[in-house]
Amino acid sequence: MPSDQDENRSDATVTIAQLKAVMNEFVQERSWEKFHLPKNLAMSIAIESAELMEHFQWTNPEQPLRPIGDDSPVAQELADVFAYTLRLAQVLGVDLSQALERKMELNRIKYPIGVEFVPKG
Ligand SMILES: [Mg+2]
Repeated sequence: MPSDQDENRSDATVTIAQLKAVMNEFVQERSWEKFHLPKNLAMSIAIESAELMEHFQWTNPEQPLRPIGDDSPVAQELADVFAYTLRLAQVLGVDLSQALERKMELNRIKYPIGVEFVPKG
């Protein structure tokens, strides 16, 4: 894993396995394994997702989005969701890359190219 001072660290250079290792180290250093039950982690993903949504709760969809920097409050909530997702995957033994690829295969079948998508509601 690149050091904290590595300015080249980015989505393009860091692997999911490295990010899982960061989360695991953080949890082990604090002896938080006992709290990281699948139920608690799944709930934490939902709670952090709600915190993310709060930033958009009263926004006008007609307004252009302001630039969102990597250290913005929105990015921090997105990171919270991702951190708990990484941790739940780790606890459950899910390979996120494989799971995403399989889910995208299902989505390609469910939503074929050239078929107009009509949202329900
Ligand atoms: Mg949060």
